[in-house]
Amino acid sequence: MSTELLSLAAAELRSVLERIMPAHHAKWGDSDEWEALTDFQRELGTAGWGASSWPVEIGGKGLDVPDQLACDEEFARAKAPRRVAVFGTNNVGPTIAAVGTSEQKKSLQAILMGDEIWCQGFSEPDAGSDLAGLRTKADVTDDGFIVNGQKVWTSIGLNATHCMLLCRTDPDAMKHKGLSALLVPMDTPGLTRRAIKQINGEAEFAELFFDNMFVPRTALLGPLHEGWRVTMTTLGFERAGVLSVAGNLVGKVKSMMHSQHLADAPAALRDRALHTYSKALILEWMGQRALAETTDGPSAVSSLIKLFWSHLGAEYAEVNADVVGIGLIAGLEPDAANELLTSRSSKIAGGTSEVMKNLIGERNLGLPREPR
Ligand SMILES: Cc1cc2nc3c(=O)[nH]c(=O)nc-3n(C[C@H](O)[C@H](O)[C@H](O)COP(=O)(O)OP(=O)(O)OC[C@H]3O[C@@H](n4cnc5c(N)ncnc54)[C@H](O)[C@@H]3O)c2cc1C
Repeated sequence: MSTELLSLAAAELRSVLERIMPAHHAKWGDSDEWEALTDFQRELGTAGWGASSWPVEIGGKGLDVPDQLACDEEFARAKAPRRVAVFGTNNVGPTIAAVGTSEQKKSLQAILMGDEIWCQGFSEPDAGSDLAGLRTKADVTDDGFIVNGQKVWTSIGLNATHCMLLCRTDPDAMKHKGLSALLVPMDTPGLTRRAIKQINGEAEFAELFFDNMFVPRTALLGPLHEGWRVTMTTLGFERAGVLSVAGNLVGKVKSMMHSQHLADAPAALRDRALHTYSKALILEWMGQRALAETTDGPSAVSSLIKLFWSHLGAEYAEVNADVVGIGLIAGLEPDAANELLTSRSSKIAGGTSEVMKNLIGERNLGLPREPR
């Protein structure tokens, strides 16, 4: 993209990244260490770019979705570090801003500056797609809650400083009713975390265990027993992010199409890559259509895009692995190898493909709802 075509926001971010990235590299190199990643969030926060989608009044830039997508391209172009504060900036922070107390809203500045890194403790061993079936219980006491139970698949749970936790506070109420959302520092006594090691050797997830963990009443986010509604706000913000990851995938497919590896590849492989590219163009079109439908929040087609994106991501990872070929085996293409191992998880994260199909059937096609 030429500078003339850049939106004002993207142009500003480009110049900010041109200023802060050399200093970041000088200090950390290409390090993917946790401290380097949180430091990058601090650098962004200091430059006023900690969470560009937030309203200006709470420290954001008030960017709409098209500008956010343009800024994503700038982060990719600058080869900026992974954004570890993303659960705080995209999900938990906006929820605190919407329903939090003034005391809780003090976390917003800490999120912007990378001082608080949030994770989301929702899924349990027997409650994933059926989240409302969760059993971690928070007994209500005079001054707070006593929490017992277990969470699983908590992204960045090993390193995060805080967790938004969904618990059952009224065991007698109907499934979606007696739940509450709690804001919990990860060093609270009674909370232990255990790494879940993945096939790629990393431990991106943690299991969280709560053994008579006390949290004060001030930790309650939103009204008591209204945690389902509060959490759906959070997940709504998460799904809005699907447009951003879809745009990122389209960019990767396009760059594969321009690679020398592909130019040198046999015709059959070039045909496969073209097939993947044509789907990427469809995904790009779906994203543009979603943008045209709404400039704010999740669109009617977001489930469709999530489904299409996650399957195309797995297909791209396989084609790209064949395109880089011997380099993958020789360990010269760590990104391609990592994508091959991890891309299938997108079909599960943030709602499985089957759940997306149910949503598309019910919301987009008007089919009867499945019994709950
Ligand atoms: C990369 C990644 C990151 C994640 N990060 C987090 C996180 O930060 N915090 C967190 O709390 N959780 C996180 N999760 C967990 C994720 O939310 C759950 O894995 C997901 O909701 C599915 O739940 P489950 O694993 O229990 O599978 P289940 O819900 O048990 O599903 C098992 C199978 O049954 C199918 N199925 C279930 N219900 C239906 C239905 N009604 N109709 C048709 N088929 C159905 C599913 O599609 C799936 O194939 C993450 C998962 C991944 C992969």
